[in-house]
Amino acid sequence: MPSAFDEDDFSALLDTLDRYIRERLMPLEKTVEETATVPDAILDEMREMGLFGLSIPQAYGGFELDVVQETRVQMLFSGTSQAFRLAFWPNVGIGSRGIVYGGTPGQKQRYLPGLASGELRAAFCLTEPDAGSDAANIRTVAVRDGDDFLISGTKRFITNATHADVFTVMARSDAGKSGADGISAFIVEKGTPGLTIGKPEHKLGQRGAPICDVILDRVRVPKENLIGGEAGEGKGFRIAMQVLDSGRIGVAGSAVGMMKRIIDEAATYALSRKQFGQPIAEFQLIQGMLADSEAEYLAGHAMVMEAARSLQAKRDTRILAASAKYFCSEALGRVADRALQIFGGAGYIAEYPIERLWRDARVLRIYEGTSQILQLVIARGLLKRYA
Ligand SMILES: Cc1cc2nc3c(=O)[nH]c(=O)nc-3n(C[C@H](O)[C@H](O)[C@H](O)COP(=O)(O)OP(=O)(O)OC[C@H]3O[C@@H](n4cnc5c(N)ncnc54)[C@H](O)[C@@H]3O)c2cc1C
Repeated sequence: MPSAFDEDDFSALLDTLDRYIRERLMPLEKTVEETATVPDAILDEMREMGLFGLSIPQAYGGFELDVVQETRVQMLFSGTSQAFRLAFWPNVGIGSRGIVYGGTPGQKQRYLPGLASGELRAAFCLTEPDAGSDAANIRTVAVRDGDDFLISGTKRFITNATHADVFTVMARSDAGKSGADGISAFIVEKGTPGLTIGKPEHKLGQRGAPICDVILDRVRVPKENLIGGEAGEGKGFRIAMQVLDSGRIGVAGSAVGMMKRIIDEAATYALSRKQFGQPIAEFQLIQGMLADSEAEYLAGHAMVMEAARSLQAKRDTRILAASAKYFCSEALGRVADRALQIFGGAGYIAEYPIERLWRDARVLRIYEGTSQILQLVIARGLLKRYA
């Protein structure tokens, strides 16, 4: 699908965002880390800039960026604290895409304008205490009650649940079917009786991007909120997997953006830090670490762009998206670890940025498909070609 943005407009948007990140957001990284909060003033600025609606169709007030453009913004925004990007990205990605892909015209009209403007914020609820990697095994149920469904269950580690107004909830609507077939996707609004949000988890990194439990106790949802209407019944898992396929390219893009930032920090430090009477950048063992990181960054960048172009061309991108997410998140771990090594003792100290970047990087190997699950996706797809 051609983008609604031509290349000149898009370049201007990237320039504006680049300046905003450097001049406004990067100076606030420490504050966000210490308070675990993105300031309201920043959220308002993000709303004004249209960031909440980057991917949402223009008909509903969004920018309607294409997949490649969206990936480039994701890379750029990952050069600063993940909390900034995660404040609006659920609206751009996992929180709105189910409605964009599978919603009825009425559902799109009701929710997408608010999600695009940022007046509404979104969360995506798939994971449960006993269903993480094995996502088709969810136990949350949606039981018909007249024209409504009653949803009960617990969702775990849900990004932005504390701020969300609109939750996309995967629930088993057909108790007779196990696995993926009996799962439907529902839109649940904040404030619906029986919906409770747990306390934010204390986590290793990405502070300021809260995750918590979402508990549903006979939450009454009208049948109009079944994504896709009656025809959407039993299609929820397929919608979730479609959402995650593009999400994986996004996480891979984030990993690439983080690698770039980390390499910037490591190279700058290596040039300024002197030992044995010279900048440590002159030691070939340090240069080796920088070179390995740059090579992995460039390889990751190429892979992500290839995956984004493939998805945009509507080709089967499952293996490519899984490979990009697997390679880039694992490479990010190596790049972050080398950078910490280049910083020496300072790398271990919170005063310097690497300590936070190293912690923030870790979870990219876990969410939206762990590395092991992605290995399985890649291997199964590959073996099918040879069977
Ligand atoms: C910061 C953060 C934000 C998140 N945000 C969201 C969100 O917004 N919405 C949402 O729904 N979820 C979210 N999640 C949940 C995330 O997607 C899951 O944590 C992830 O899918 C892994 O599930 P799990 O934690 O239950 O691990 P498990 O599935 O229990 O896995 C544990 C280990 O076993 C391995 N493993 C599992 N199965 C296999 C297998 N078949 N073969 C080999 N190894 C295997 C895994 O790779 C992993 O190493 C978030 C998680 C975090 C940490």
